[in-house]
Amino acid sequence: MKCPKCVREGRRSNFFFSTYVTSSGWTTQQYYDPDGVLHHHDESHEERAYRCGHGHQFLQSIPHSCVCGWKQEVDESLRPLPVSGGPPPRSV
Ligand SMILES: [Zn+2]
Ligand SMILES: [Zn+2]
Repeated sequence: MKCPKCVREGRRSNFFFSTYVTSSGWTTQQYYDPDGVLHHHDESHEERAYRCGHGHQFLQSIPHSCVCGWKQEVDESLRPLPVSGGPPPRSV
């Protein structure tokens, strides 16, 4: 993973990230199906905030998936961090 802006500008940089889970939701759904298989269908998703050594910032959503093939539909692409608004990244 590299900072896309620095790649475009031909620069090298360290790429830091911190993660937090979106506050909306927390509807974690876990259950065992009739065969005793544990399912984990978590509708909340993890957001990852990136920042490179040149001050470029991005957000990415990390989807959850399950053994049964259930997969959360989220946009996994890097997107620029909005200048104002949006939840701040929480360090872990
Ligand atoms: Zn950069
Ligand atoms: Zn499942």
